[in-house]
Amino acid sequence: MEALNSPNDAAPVLVIGAGPVGLTMACELARHGARCRIIDRAPEPSQTSRALAIFPRTLEILETMGVVEPFLDGGLPLHGLSLHHGAEQIGQVDFNSVASPFPFALALPQSETERLLSEHLTRHGIAIERGVELTALMQNSDAVRAVLRHSDGREEIVETPWLIACDGAHSTTRHALGMDFTGAQYDESFILADVQLASSLVRDRIHLFLGADGLLGLFPFKENRWRIVANIPPQSREQTLPEVTFEEVQRLLERRAPSGYRASDPVWLSRFHISHRKVREFRQLRVFLAGDSAHIHSPAGGQGMNTGMQDAFNLAWKLALVVGGAAPTQLLASYHAEREPVASEVLNLTDRITRMATMRNSLAQNVRDFLLPRVSGIDFVGNKIADRLAELAVNYRKSPIVENHGVGKLKAGDRAPDADLRDESSQARRLFELFRAPRHVLLIFLGTAAAAATSEQIGSALQGLPENTVDSYRITRGRSNLPAELRDLSGLAHAAYGLTSGGSVLVRPDGYIGYRSDGFDPIPLREYLARTFVVA
Ligand SMILES: Cc1cc2nc3c(=O)[nH]c(=O)nc-3n(C[C@H](O)[C@H](O)[C@H](O)COP(=O)(O)OP(=O)(O)OC[C@H]3O[C@@H](n4cnc5c(N)ncnc54)[C@H](O)[C@@H]3O)c2cc1C
Repeated sequence: MEALNSPNDAAPVLVIGAGPVGLTMACELARHGARCRIIDRAPEPSQTSRALAIFPRTLEILETMGVVEPFLDGGLPLHGLSLHHGAEQIGQVDFNSVASPFPFALALPQSETERLLSEHLTRHGIAIERGVELTALMQNSDAVRAVLRHSDGREEIVETPWLIACDGAHSTTRHALGMDFTGAQYDESFILADVQLASSLVRDRIHLFLGADGLLGLFPFKENRWRIVANIPPQSREQTLPEVTFEEVQRLLERRAPSGYRASDPVWLSRFHISHRKVREFRQLRVFLAGDSAHIHSPAGGQGMNTGMQDAFNLAWKLALVVGGAAPTQLLASYHAEREPVASEVLNLTDRITRMATMRNSLAQNVRDFLLPRVSGIDFVGNKIADRLAELAVNYRKSPIVENHGVGKLKAGDRAPDADLRDESSQARRLFELFRAPRHVLLIFLGTAAAAATSEQIGSALQGLPENTVDSYRITRGRSNLPAELRDLSGLAHAAYGLTSGGSVLVRPDGYIGYRSDGFDPIPLREYLARTFVVA
């Protein structure tokens, strides 16, 4: 057995698992300046397509991470979802109207997502240690002790201050900590096939066919390929399911899609049971769970990978501040407080979609098929569904680390919206560009203020904060001559933040509003910052 690595010579964070969630975690820790080690028991990256849809909020975080371009180059934008009953379209949800620079879902096989994130991690100077498996762990209030088995059989014991379990649905970490994974398995099994498809369907939308004997989902992706997903009514709850045959896939197409659709050239056929489960706590002492290790849902709605990547995006900046000594460890309690309700909500949403899509009672099916065209056609409903699938409706308003002063639709805990501005040399700047800095961003909207917040006032609010933790910008509205770093000529940025008369907003590094006030008062802002950071 190899000598024990002490916490001092090891990286302060050990990430278990190099799936999409572990990779996001490691990339984000690196971007925020925290060293980490990432291991995966698989000797090679996975080659299967699994999660196919990357939703707008995830594309936004990829943009913040500085890696969205190769995703956009490699993926196929899907502008909405069409519901069909036989040859008739009975409803639709459109992503075009979602308020995001990426108003579409991007179809890209998960193997590609993992490849692009791995390459990005390499650019951060971090190599994935493959063929290294976590086999056991224990912890106390000072450190986590993890046993790692290398592919040559060697065992290594690592002591690390923090361990992040991104080790998937069958998480070794979760088992080792004896954490319950509460939920159940669906009776239905599902068939999945990646094929070429001859059909009359447009290739920029997801198509769902609701039929008497079940659901058929057709998802286009690059190279003229389609993902077919279909539920199979339960015959037994046996775990061992027969292999899928290509003939079975073609028969499903014939039964559930309009006539004449033909599949060919299958590259991946799979049959699986799905479950909906969640841990009660996303953290146990010095161990955090993220992604499938903490929550698994039905693939209906395609939320699993997206939600997991956002778990990592939520945790990384907090952990980086803590390991860098810039924030107190109490900040980390907000990870569970913020992400557990999101996972619960995703579980409920995907469960409802699954039960509705796979209902077998013909009366209930008739009610569903009667109601769907009516409700999904209503803009309000359609937009709400699109926002939820896009994960733009997520907010942390109830978080213990957000603070709201004043009124307005937008509140602390909400995702900070994008807006177009001009800088001092009249160059166009987007707020989302500013949010790419791995720091908090203080926006002081001057609105109709007769006098600008002075640099002394801003300085007094930020005094004594750890270095490089908060950027600040004053923003004028219209043609004001007040001193400021940015100008909101149209007034749309002020309006987007509900601060036409002025106010202040502190945007966290994950793009959510930590603090919002209808005015600029350095004292409560200073108190908020003093709770968030370690202040000299
Ligand atoms: C057929 C299918 C279709 C899906 N479709 C979608 C979709 O359309 N949209 C969507 O959002 N989600 C979808 N999902 C879900 C999505 O694939 C998962 O949510 C996603 O993979 C979770 O990522 P993760 O990083 O948490 O876990 P995983 O991807 O499971 O990665 C875990 C990693 O940890 C490693 N590991 C495990 N144990 C250990 C250990 N003890 N030591 C070291 N390493 C370990 C594994 O080798 C693996 O690389 C689908 C899933 C399936 C199976």
